[in-house]
Amino acid sequence: MLNHFLNSAQLSSTDEVILFRDGRIIVQEQRYLWTAGSVPDQLAIAKTLLLVSTGRRNLVVMDLESDKHIPDNAEPTSLRSLLFNSDRALATAGKANQILDWYKGHQYCGSCGEPTVPDPKQLAVHCLRCNRHFFPRINPCVIVLVIKGDKMLLAKNARYRSGFLSCLAGFIEVGESAEDTVLREVKEESGLDVHNIRYFKSQSWPFPSQLMLGFYADYKAGEIVPEPGEIEEANWYSYDELPTTPSRKISVAGELIDNFVRQMQSKAG
Ligand SMILES: [Zn+2]
Repeated sequence: MLNHFLNSAQLSSTDEVILFRDGRIIVQEQRYLWTAGSVPDQLAIAKTLLLVSTGRRNLVVMDLESDKHIPDNAEPTSLRSLLFNSDRALATAGKANQILDWYKGHQYCGSCGEPTVPDPKQLAVHCLRCNRHFFPRINPCVIVLVIKGDKMLLAKNARYRSGFLSCLAGFIEVGESAEDTVLREVKEESGLDVHNIRYFKSQSWPFPSQLMLGFYADYKAGEIVPEPGEIEEANWYSYDELPTTPSRKISVAGELIDNFVRQMQSKAG
């Protein structure tokens, strides 16, 4: 049986470690994976190590206390900076961050307030007093590219200063299907009605714990009215006159856009 909660004595020196401190990942010359043997002794006395994956080597995530000194040539950096590293880096470090974030937020039972204990049989913490288990949770979101002929609806989010235009997106609310969310979010954020909703693909998005479900939907009716406070601008863009959009390498939004552009290009010959 796989125990997800380890201590440093259970690691071999070749096992891999991801280090976080105060919500930032410790990176050394672009390298975010440490071997257990290379982690300085004063850091390795950490309490609980959380298992991220197994294979030829175990990979664990370790949370360092704020006052721990990290090695001289290492620096704490944001998880987002790994977006430009590799898919695997983002997936691995993202998963580590989600597990760590969940664990730190579930030290006490949300029902009775007792301290929780790790469950040795699964990735969960347990309240012995009221016999509840708490598992890491993910938050499902939809991300949707609305199509009208050879044009697509792209919008700029009012809260993020990313500089690019992208698909519409939003969290799935309690009681909704993903398709219900597509209808509601597109209506709320752009004022448009859509139909022919079709699933494209999904992506784990660890900022902090979303599962993005990508969809296409066809325009049905209405005029664009950007939602105040949420959408700064929204417009139709032809596939051959695109503004700056997210890269397909890092996000399902980029893939939705790029995939549509390719379809239109091959149609146009
Ligand atoms: Zn409890």
